[in-house]
Amino acid sequence: MELRRKLARNMSRAITDFDMLEEGDRVMVAVSGGKDSYSLHALLTDLAKRAPINFTTLAVNIDQGHPGYPGHLLQQYMDDRGFPFRMVREDTYSIVTDKIPEGKTYCSLCSRLRRGILYRLATELGCTKIALGHHRDDAIVTLMLNLVFSGQLKAMPPKLLSDDGKHVVIRPLVYCAEEDLAAFASEEAFPILPCDLCGSQENLQRKAISRLLADLDARSPGARQNMLAALTNVRPSHLFDKDLWRSLGLHVAPPEEDAKGASTDLVSASSLLRGLS
Ligand code: SF4
Repeated sequence: MELRRKLARNMSRAITDFDMLEEGDRVMVAVSGGKDSYSLHALLTDLAKRAPINFTTLAVNIDQGHPGYPGHLLQQYMDDRGFPFRMVREDTYSIVTDKIPEGKTYCSLCSRLRRGILYRLATELGCTKIALGHHRDDAIVTLMLNLVFSGQLKAMPPKLLSDDGKHVVIRPLVYCAEEDLAAFASEEAFPILPCDLCGSQENLQRKAISRLLADLDARSPGARQNMLAALTNVRPSHLFDKDLWRSLGLHVAPPEEDAKGASTDLVSASSLLRGLS
């Protein structure tokens, strides 16, 4: 119960900080059957009962056609508790296995296809928000991946308007630690659907960064929480982004000078990976 309260508190703080929910929202909760999305759904449906605004949830799962997909476990869970739920079958598995050469990771195409399906479903089902189960550790791994491999200082948006302006994606768990979600999922005995049915290789860069962060946290407890805090405490004037400086009214070279000062040659990802492994 303590854990549920802690997670609910962190989630409510993120929802308030980023104004994620409005009166009358119909929130489509993307439930993959993993620990994070089950937890998100459980916490959001709880919140819907006691929040000062009225909103409803609709859990949605996409059966992507992976061999042996045990979707019936999730269906049973939702039916037993009377939660509004839709399972939609869209065979993206055949598409990714057809398009991506063997040995390469499927995740990038798979996620893009899944996101497109979620957007379409949100429109069809009249949902005003799409809630995803990304948490604190997803955000800081993404921050580090962008920092180390892409030369960009960005994590993931807590709230995002889709490119076509039609959908609002929210990530209410961005302040929640993965270890708390894992403990909560095991406390609640959610019937977890395995995530390795697609046979895709885990992304090597993500794996290397996750190891690095776990190591950092072991040496300096609280490092991951401090990284989350850093995302909420940015000093733009202490960064070197000239556009950001301009937006603050600080004096920098005019935009036409930018091209001349090409400052940052990116080092190749493979050489960085060698250093991290
Ligand atoms: S692990 Fe499999 S199901 Fe998940 S995003 Fe990657 S390819 Fe898709």
